[in-house]
Amino acid sequence: VFSKVTPALVDRLRAIVGAGNVELDDLEPYSHDYTEDFRFPPEVAVRPRTTEEVARVVRLANDALVPVTAQGGRTSLSGGALCVHGGIALSLERMNRIVEVDAENLFAVVEPAVITQALQEEVEKRGLFYGPDPASRGSCTLGGNVAHCAGGPRALKYGVTKDWVTGLVAVLPSGEVIRTGGKLMKNVTGYNLTQLLVGSEGTLAVVTEITLKLIPLPKFRRTMLAPFPDLVSAARAVTRIFDARIVPCCVEFMDRAAVEAAEKRKAASFPAKGAATLLVEVDGNDEALLEREAERVGEACVAEGAPDVFLAMDEEQRRFIWDLRRSIGEAVKSLAPYKEEDTVVPRARLPELVAAVEEVSRRHGLTAVSYGHVGDGNLHVNILKLGVTEEEWRTRVPAAVREIFERTLALGGQITGEHGVGYVQREFLPMAYPEHQIELMRELKRVFDPKGILNPGKILPDGSERRPFGRRG
Ligand SMILES: Cc1cc2nc3c(=O)[nH]c(=O)nc-3n(C[C@H](O)[C@H](O)[C@H](O)COP(=O)(O)OP(=O)(O)OC[C@H]3O[C@@H](n4cnc5c(N)ncnc54)[C@H](O)[C@@H]3O)c2cc1C
Repeated sequence: VFSKVTPALVDRLRAIVGAGNVELDDLEPYSHDYTEDFRFPPEVAVRPRTTEEVARVVRLANDALVPVTAQGGRTSLSGGALCVHGGIALSLERMNRIVEVDAENLFAVVEPAVITQALQEEVEKRGLFYGPDPASRGSCTLGGNVAHCAGGPRALKYGVTKDWVTGLVAVLPSGEVIRTGGKLMKNVTGYNLTQLLVGSEGTLAVVTEITLKLIPLPKFRRTMLAPFPDLVSAARAVTRIFDARIVPCCVEFMDRAAVEAAEKRKAASFPAKGAATLLVEVDGNDEALLEREAERVGEACVAEGAPDVFLAMDEEQRRFIWDLRRSIGEAVKSLAPYKEEDTVVPRARLPELVAAVEEVSRRHGLTAVSYGHVGDGNLHVNILKLGVTEEEWRTRVPAAVREIFERTLALGGQITGEHGVGYVQREFLPMAYPEHQIELMRELKRVFDPKGILNPGKILPDGSERRPFGRRG
């Protein structure tokens, strides 16, 4: 249904963004994100610098019926940034300025390709704090975070991206520009288009500017590692920590295989580890109170079977632990071909989810490595292609994934907590919602994007879904 990129269209793109920002030769970087080993080369990659240039590119594509896929850091784990129908990769990489840090009103205004960690560090220099902290923070962008409503370890105390976005500038497929919200803590003027666009995975509009709330930087942190003899007791300890009336800023879960993968990749060793390990961090402004909280976290972990709890003595030890933790995602993915699920359940149902994942993968003869932000009920399950034949992989994985999702949904959970539906989960959307609800989403998509040119092939099933274990596009 889509048209191809023609030489005449390329000329017009060059006229908009400059010849040096239209890429036809080296399209490899634009042809993949972090999702399995998919490769979908666009026909052309375009690097606009301003909202006006984005608007002109998108309008041109809409008129010509050519697909446009916005790309940030291309760290998506759901195939969000893949150009599955070819067309134009709209890389925002040159729109990477922190426009303003407004310390008086506690807001930041940024262009979409600002790297998440760059904003965190910039505001921290001024004693301020931006909450969302995806483990990919060194390479993902705030525009991608908005599109996926990224979470990360600190979400349980500080919320996910949607809780920090108060305004957007966005380009509609027609090329019209909308401005939603602003530096406003309150705003109920009409429908909440800001929050409709957050998490819309680049399928409704291209975000070209983001206004984010900030808060004062918490002064102190205490970071602990608690090893457990089995997965379920670690999951139980999470609830016990909250029962002690403590809200940590992070509770990360790592099974033994995840820990070992990170250790191997970094050639370093976690100071404490078990069959399952929790990384718990508390933060605040009252150091004495924090010491007591850390002690109570330790007691809760010991009560659930942790033989002892390691407390990071200084910032260097803390950084060392977090560096290892943040390397897990890539370390696990480098072990073998994988299929990752991003399950999320109400926190107290975690022990059941952890047990279900163990049971399902064992029964199907598959190796699953689990880790995640369990403080907010989010467990990443990586099924690895280890010790199985090609045929076993092809037949067992789809059945196991479906079962894991069934069990997750039965626990009151959902099939993705922060990675998005994207390309790889859309065939499972009918497990999550009834048809009339999916149809409502299709209607919303048609209102924004009647010709369907923005990031086609994502979120909404259209009958052409791939097999969940597919290897290449
Ligand atoms: C090692 C690793 C660890 C990770 N850890 C976490 C984690 O802890 N928490 C978490 O939530 N995610 C995590 N992720 C997933 C990923 O980093 C996030 O989804 C992130 O938000 C993607 O940002 P990006 O800039 O890379 O976006 P991309 O991958 O480039 O794009 C993602 C989606 O956003 C759309 N998009 C990008 N920019 C725009 C824009 N300006 N306007 C409209 N749409 C746009 C794209 O079309 C696509 O649909 C991890 C990934 C890796 C590889």
